Amino acid sequence: MKYAEIAEAYEKIEATTKRLEMTDLLVNLLKNTPKDIIDKVVYLTQGKIYPDFVGIEIGVAEKLAIKALARASGRKESEIEEDLKKSGDIGETAQKIIAKKKQVTFFHQPLTVQRVYETLDKMAKASGSGAIDAKMSLLAGLLADATPKEAKYIMRTVTGNLRLGIADMTVLDALAIAYGGGKESRELIERAYNISSDLGRVAKIVAEKGLEGIKEFHVSIGEPIRPMLAERLSSPEEILEKLGGKCIAEYKYDGERVQIHKNGENVILFSRRLENISNQYPDAVQLVKKHVKAKEAILEAECVAIDVDTGELRPFQELMHRRRKYGIEKAMEEYPVSLFMFDALYIDGKDLTLEPYPIRRQALERIIEQSERVQIAKHIIANNAKELEKFFLEAIEEGCEGLVCKSMAKDSVYQAGARGWLWIKYKRDYKSEMTDTVDLVVVGAFHGRGKRAGTYGALLLAAYNPENDTFETVTKCGTGFSDEDLAKLPEMMKKHVILHKHPRVNSMIEADVWFEPVVVIEVLGAEITLSPIHTCAMSTIRQGSGLAIRFPRFTGNYRLDKAAEDATTVNEIIEMYQKQLRRIAE
Ligand code: ATP
Repeated sequence: MKYAEIAEAYEKIEATTKRLEMTDLLVNLLKNTPKDIIDKVVYLTQGKIYPDFVGIEIGVAEKLAIKALARASGRKESEIEEDLKKSGDIGETAQKIIAKKKQVTFFHQPLTVQRVYETLDKMAKASGSGAIDAKMSLLAGLLADATPKEAKYIMRTVTGNLRLGIADMTVLDALAIAYGGGKESRELIERAYNISSDLGRVAKIVAEKGLEGIKEFHVSIGEPIRPMLAERLSSPEEILEKLGGKCIAEYKYDGERVQIHKNGENVILFSRRLENISNQYPDAVQLVKKHVKAKEAILEAECVAIDVDTGELRPFQELMHRRRKYGIEKAMEEYPVSLFMFDALYIDGKDLTLEPYPIRRQALERIIEQSERVQIAKHIIANNAKELEKFFLEAIEEGCEGLVCKSMAKDSVYQAGARGWLWIKYKRDYKSEMTDTVDLVVVGAFHGRGKRAGTYGALLLAAYNPENDTFETVTKCGTGFSDEDLAKLPEMMKKHVILHKHPRVNSMIEADVWFEPVVVIEVLGAEITLSPIHTCAMSTIRQGSGLAIRFPRFTGNYRLDKAAEDATTVNEIIEMYQKQLRRIAE
């Protein structure tokens, strides 16, 4: 196939503003394309040479493109730059410059699609010290044989400026019309795309094998499945009603979604946007190798920052430190992660995407060997609003964003690439910040693990209630302690250790060690939330709920100047909570 045919089609597509007309033009182009290269043509129309998840881009800088054009046309770079300043479009400039080429070669080779594609591919893959020169010569070679119109589109393609506006959905429509017998087949073809994210491969199958081929289409390892997304409702009652009175409610962990593709020792992690992010999480890759007991699997999980010493979840923001090319080892140590698995889409030869969720979850449970670092999303099967609300508060307090409630119905398939009502998220409408520090009384402690064996992993902290002279627990804090703090804490607290909960301490949580309420420390939290397990202001705001401070961090200040009775009071915490709510409402 001649590249001129593509350039011709591009020109017409560019000229239309109507989507239907654009689809028709694309249908024509696809019909005229030999089937064995239809994948390549599809990639090219979107300015690519591979599906996005492969991560290979042509990536030619404008400067380099100008050099190549100068070489191919025999014109000066300065002249090209001058023209580019006026036109603002490297494609137009190339068209003009090539048209002016003095020596018209009569025996030049017409460009074929194959040659253009292969050359772009070589350019994309050129690496090492000679890469820039190699790219330049390859591009100059193409331009030397290009007509002005071809030069325009080649230049726009290599510099990432093709922008014909052909969306994935337009290609799917065009494929349905060209090879699926009509628009009605679009849904089937779209599903193939949703489970492979590869428009080129889908095009080739539908062109070569028709809809029968598409019906046989299955997920495959290495090709990311477009994620299923959740709708949202704001009350447990509505959620239950929508899901037929019963659902699997899971913690909505606040981290980064990863789609895990495992083939033996080969593990790839794809992001929510289907980029390969394995390099950001070498530790998660190892965890998958160790804890996923299937040879082949495609699974979904939320990758969450954690505090290994306390097992607590950390805020999403900490994962930002993983978005880097260099120094990942250090980031890995400072910001460790856990995986919370929540779906299984393929296991050892079996495509599970059309199975109902309870079956997929069971399959997941069978192949995961759980540990502290690899767990299956915490869940309950809920059929009443009260328990759903209680589970929601637990989730928030443990550092999650809320819940994802999932349909258990027969048709609760994995809806790749769609936001639907089979999953409903329940989270709060706001994110707020706690700006003031609080001074809290140390009433108990939990044994540390790992690096913190022998000292405390976290402290149980309480606010003071002067009305009945008690200390009511408000948070568990394990973050912000230096090594030095950790070394001296047991010694410092030794004289206050008692065998059981102090009579003035009001706690529903069982600590490993109890203290007399004497030592006060300063803490900064992220926000204050309702809590079913902390006793601070129990049943004041809502029946059966207390208040808790989320993501607390010790500031490093021991308030030795304060007696326990001088600590932040329960009323102050209530006020802070209400102020926070008012700020959200404003
Ligand atoms: P949000 O910003 O609310 O996370 P989103 O558009 O990224 O929205 P949604 O599908 O609306 O995604 O919400 C579900 C998201 O929650 C998933 O993308 C996933 O990253 C995350 N998540 C955390 N825990 C779970 C879970 N148990 N099941 C499904 N998704 C979960």
